[in-house]
Amino acid sequence: MNRYVSKIPRRKFLKLTGCSLALLPVAIIASSRDTLAQGKASKEAVQYQETPKNGQKCKDCQFWTEPNGCQVVEGEISPEGWCSLFVVKQG
Ligand code: SF4
Repeated sequence: MNRYVSKIPRRKFLKLTGCSLALLPVAIIASSRDTLAQGKASKEAVQYQETPKNGQKCKDCQFWTEPNGCQVVEGEISPEGWCSLFVVKQG
């Protein structure tokens, strides 16, 4: 890095790095905005699997949505799947 820094005037270097650091929080927020907007967990985070567990399956879960979705987990969800957020459908 020193090789590159020495070729850039100090004032310009400080301006560039300062600007980059100032924009870092904006970049972090922008990259996570989609996930936050969806408000759903990743399959990995909830140990999602494509098969039932102990007789529990997505189509019997409170969060299941037809035909292959879930209110709280992102992506395509199998009616025969399962995850750690399973809640028995009421009624
Ligand atoms: S078991 Fe998990 S993935 Fe399946 S419907 Fe319920 S919350 Fe969604």
